[in-house]
Amino acid sequence: MGDVVSALREALGDRAVLEGETGGGAPDWLGGARRTPALAVLRPASTEEVSTALRICHAHRQPVVPQGGLTGLVHGADTNERTLALSLERMHAIEAVDPVNRTMTVQAGVPLQRVQEAADEHDLLFPLDLGARGSATIGGNIATNAGGNRVIRYGMMRENVLGLEAVLADGTVVSSLHPMLKNNTGYDLKQLFVGSEGTLGVVTRAVLRLRQKPRSENVAFVAVPDFDRVTALLARVDAELGGMLSAFEVLWDDFYRLITTPPAENRPPFATRSAFYVLIEALGGDEAADAERFQTVLARALEDGLVVDAAVATSAADRARLWAMRDDVGQVRRHAPVQTFDVSLPIPAVPAYVEEVNARLGERFGEVVNFVFGHLGDGNIHLIVGPGDREPETRQAVEAIVYGALAPRGGSVSAEHGIGLEKKPWLAVSRSEAEQAVMRAVKQALDPEGILNPGKIL
Ligand code: FAD
Repeated sequence: MGDVVSALREALGDRAVLEGETGGGAPDWLGGARRTPALAVLRPASTEEVSTALRICHAHRQPVVPQGGLTGLVHGADTNERTLALSLERMHAIEAVDPVNRTMTVQAGVPLQRVQEAADEHDLLFPLDLGARGSATIGGNIATNAGGNRVIRYGMMRENVLGLEAVLADGTVVSSLHPMLKNNTGYDLKQLFVGSEGTLGVVTRAVLRLRQKPRSENVAFVAVPDFDRVTALLARVDAELGGMLSAFEVLWDDFYRLITTPPAENRPPFATRSAFYVLIEALGGDEAADAERFQTVLARALEDGLVVDAAVATSAADRARLWAMRDDVGQVRRHAPVQTFDVSLPIPAVPAYVEEVNARLGERFGEVVNFVFGHLGDGNIHLIVGPGDREPETRQAVEAIVYGALAPRGGSVSAEHGIGLEKKPWLAVSRSEAEQAVMRAVKQALDPEGILNPGKIL
């Protein structure tokens, strides 16, 4: 193995090969970082250097783990003493912004937040947004097909990438940097790499789709008495806001109480208690008219009993406060150790699913907490369950309950975080044997030696 590191050092230079460094790792969702050891960390500075590095690794059958900002939540970027980490940290340039075509060409190591800021400077929007924006990279967002808060309006990362460049396991550069929305010239190769978690190629550059920056932003937090009215409200605001709906975040009452009770700093926005709460956001093009329309839609929802109380933000500070409340997931540490889950299922199946999980957790463990919230407009909910995972048997038992109840409902064990190592044992809950066989065939075709992120997903 020493040979491969020497060959890489000779080809790429000392700056690009760090030995004795730790590589990989993964934070837990609540911010605890975890590092993993690596044979060495490669830090190529260009696509050519990535290609050279992979060509050498391929010849030596040396496993390589691509790494971005190390914010992934399923141990997809974990290394071990025998694997090399390939970090994109030196490839962070924004190469071009085309305000007319509404595209941005970037290197894969650029942090998401820098892309958002660069779009903003051109009065444009890169709509993907998530809590780890400061560290998460575009390459990592692509490799995990990241979602976030505004998927209901703008789609996942998949919908926001027009072209990309990737380097295959043997060093071949596949340049698919097309800047068009429409391009039906055979297989859409870029989509092969989106969500592939570093197992099919190293993403080195991308052409991102930008949107016009919204001129109005309206946010409300509302109380809803039951799940039927949550889904009725979703249909209502989606129809009546005329395409402006950009977030529909639902909080179950237990989670709401947790984040609005000291030591949490958020104060309840109204006195009413209810079974569900929804944060609604609308982005539009006319400040005055949109605010009026937003309030009219909410007033009608109140009149019709879909909503029993509402707090409408009247300033940027109000909007930030309501979002900060929704995002104050760290409060669950008060119940540590906990296990976090990111699942999706058809929206009508959600309440019975949550009830079944709660009932089974209660039967198995007696005292439990299960904080539920999420991007319900996308059928995506997060569950944070105590008892936590100090004991492997407890972890497995909780996973069996949470994931087991998805299978009969056609749900997914991973809505947006990916499979990595963490969810690998549960892939079969969401993917048939035939689907897994196709995945293995694709992997075999692109990486026959199995050197790219071995052991992840499959
Ligand atoms: P890493 O963690 O470094 O890697 C993740 C995976 O991508 C690994 O499998 C790695 O091998 C692969 N990879 C990385 N770069 C490349 C590359 N250039 N080429 C090929 N493969 C590569 N996710 C959501 O979808 N929605 C959310 O709302 C959300 N919120 C989050 C909030 C917090 C606080 C945190 C910590 C994470 C959150 N995530 C969320 C997880 C999300 O998947 C990651 O934050 C992000 O997309 C990963 O980017 P990264 O650069 O950190 O990748």
